[in-house]
Amino acid sequence: MAPRVGARTVYESPRVAPKPGETVVTSTCGHNCGGRCVVNAHVRDGRIVKISTDPRKWTPEMPPLHACVRGFGQMERVHHPDRLLHPLRRVGSRGSGEFEPIGWDEALDEVARQMLRVRDTYGPAAILDCSRTGSLSMLHSRATVQRLLHMFGGCTELWTNISSQAEVFAVGITYGAKADYKSAGREPIPSERARSSTSSGRRSRACASSALTRG
Ligand code: SF4
Repeated sequence: MAPRVGARTVYESPRVAPKPGETVVTSTCGHNCGGRCVVNAHVRDGRIVKISTDPRKWTPEMPPLHACVRGFGQMERVHHPDRLLHPLRRVGSRGSGEFEPIGWDEALDEVARQMLRVRDTYGPAAILDCSRTGSLSMLHSRATVQRLLHMFGGCTELWTNISSQAEVFAVGITYGAKADYKSAGREPIPSERARSSTSSGRRSRACASSALTRG
């Protein structure tokens, strides 16, 4: 749905013009920061050859959704030789790195079997909804998994988001206890704060996430 600014409906155009022989597909970054910035995939002969982002300039009424380097890195992610394209089942001991390929139906049956086993043996609280990791694009949003798990009989939920609590903490430490916390870190911070710091809100977010994952 197109966003409204005041009484106006604004139609966004985050897609850049393709070069000859190229198709540009506008999508969103699926990295697990949740920002869902604009990612334009430039496709040539069925292969992504370049990523661009929202070309618009910043305005207070309609801030653009510029991707960061991780958004631009989605091309490497898609083409990476280690990217999993088919389900694998572990056949060796945990950590041994031994897997065998299995079909999608078999994989789904296995997941269903294990979920039923855990729920029926230990109760639904033994299942943790950790759906806010991995790919967080609109297609893999949390609501889908939540709906499934709620219909399944319930689950244990995380308190707040798996990474944003670290972000809240980092913003407070960086800018002071009274700092306004801006979810997703994309709002511009007041310039006096920017001058006193080498990092933007988004950078703080990245640091917080890294700190969390490095534990
Ligand atoms: S801030 Fe970066 S990682 Fe997060 S959604 Fe946007 S492009 Fe992706």
